Amino acid sequence: MNDCIFCGIAEGKIPSQKVFEDDSVVAFRDLSPKAPVHVLIVPKKHIQSVAHFQTVDKDVAAHIFVDVAPKLAKDLGIADDGFRLVINTGKNGGQSVNHLHVHLLGGRKMTWPPG
Ligand code: AMP
Repeated sequence: MNDCIFCGIAEGKIPSQKVFEDDSVVAFRDLSPKAPVHVLIVPKKHIQSVAHFQTVDKDVAAHIFVDVAPKLAKDLGIADDGFRLVINTGKNGGQSVNHLHVHLLGGRKMTWPPG
């Protein structure tokens, strides 16, 4: 989608520190990390948010959670001590980029509840 920063990253038009890429997903370091490890896992297809998922998106959603997130947690050295996956959704959810992304955070102890 035009004007979408994460579409630009997925298409290689905007630079990023990629840590993973396959046909349907790209993952890259967050520009403003909130933990020692902070990566964004993004479907290449422009899906605005969890609230905009369609049935056709089931495969990529499952791929992110079943394949990509656990693999990246392991590869980035945070699987054993634990990590957090976050999906901010919409205005009240704190979403600032309107292209669905899963935050993978680790390398420090997280607190609860989130702010
Ligand atoms: P959210 O607030 O959940 O929508 O998260 C958006 C995230 O994208 C924030 O953590 C930003 O730091 C991050 N971000 C924005 N632009 C970029 C970029 N060009 N490269 C990497 N991360 C970015």
